[in-house]
Amino acid sequence: MDTLQIGNTTLRLVQGDITEQDVEAVVNAANSSLMGGGGVDGAIHRRGGPRILAACRQIRTEQYPDGLPAGEAVITTAGELPARWVIHTVGPIWTGGGNGEEKILAAAYRNSLALAHQHGLRTVAFPSISTGAYGFPITLAAPIALRTVRDEVQARPGAFAEVRFVLFSEADYETYRTALEVLAKAA
Ligand code: ADP
Repeated sequence: MDTLQIGNTTLRLVQGDITEQDVEAVVNAANSSLMGGGGVDGAIHRRGGPRILAACRQIRTEQYPDGLPAGEAVITTAGELPARWVIHTVGPIWTGGGNGEEKILAAAYRNSLALAHQHGLRTVAFPSISTGAYGFPITLAAPIALRTVRDEVQARPGAFAEVRFVLFSEADYETYRTALEVLAKAA
């Protein structure tokens, strides 16, 4: 399955590119420096242009001189992207699962949605946080991502119209589809 209805909110899986999503906010799988990187981060800064990096620099100066801790989230303009806002969050680096990776991953999704809600944003698109360069096994990350988003949406009835997961590869998309099916059956 590729959608799950949670009250008035649609949780949707799509295969595609996060930078092309026409939603109010896209989430960036950033690193603590907020100064750009590869993967999702690189694509967002490349397509969104220099205004995003300028806003990130200001956040570093004013709020997080030592960098954004893993699991936290901040918001900037989306520059030239179709979205209006970018929510930058930092996922955990996978080091085998014994260092709180699962909790930090859940916090990244939770804090991103909390920030979106604080700003009144009703459509949000996530990439698969931590499952690229940060090495979190996607078969473990997908159920955590989906369960956390489902729980947060349920805790804020009517706040979101759609929360979308944008999976880059066919294989990642299929992994999330399977995990969504399992979640829906367990509910
Ligand atoms: P992290 O450092 O948190 O692991 P990455 O950006 O390296 O983040 O990867 C996270 C996931 O996003 C990976 O599954 C990767 O394939 C995927 N990805 C890379 N580029 C894009 C993109 N433009 N849109 C959506 N997903 C992407």
